[in-house]
Amino acid sequence: MSVYDPANIFAKILRGEMPATKVFEDDAALAFMDIMPRADGHTLVVPKIAARNIFDIAPADLSTLIQRVQHVAKAVRSGMAADGVVVQQFNEGPGGQMVFHIHFHILPRWTGVALKPPGVMGDKAAIEAAAAKIRAALA
Ligand code: 5GP
Repeated sequence: MSVYDPANIFAKILRGEMPATKVFEDDAALAFMDIMPRADGHTLVVPKIAARNIFDIAPADLSTLIQRVQHVAKAVRSGMAADGVVVQQFNEGPGGQMVFHIHFHILPRWTGVALKPPGVMGDKAAIEAAAAKIRAALA
C-alpha cells in the first residue's frame, strides 16, 4: 500500500514552504487556487492532516473536509457567478491523482463555456482576480 510522503507540494504549501494564492483557511483545511486552472476560479481544498487520498483518510477527517469543500464551493459559485460547480477528487495515479495529499477540486462552470485544457499554467493576474472574488464571497 502506498504511504503518505510529506515532501508533496501541498504539504509544502501547508507548511508555508511554497507559496499559494489562498482563499480560505481554518484549523482543519486550506483552500487555494489551482496554478493550472481548468476554469477561472478553479480552487483546491486540502485538509491540514496528512492523508494521501480517499483510501487512508480517517472517516472523521473526511467528514470535516467535505464540510469545508461545501463551504468553499458555495463561495466559488457566488463569487464567480457560476451556473454550476464541479467537485472532483482523484485517487492514485491511474485514478488521475498527481499530487498525493488528498484534495478536492472545485470548478465553476458556466453554460456554453468549455473547460480549459489540462496542464497549462494560468495567468497570475487572472488567478489573483478570481481569488479576490472568492475571498469576498467568503467574507
Ligand atoms: P490531481 O492530483 O487531483 O490530479 O491534481 C493536482 C492539481 O494540483 C492539478 O490541478 C494541478 O494543476 C495542481 N497543482 C500542481 N502543483 C501545484 C502547485 O504547486 N500549486 C498549486 N496551487 N496547484 C498545483
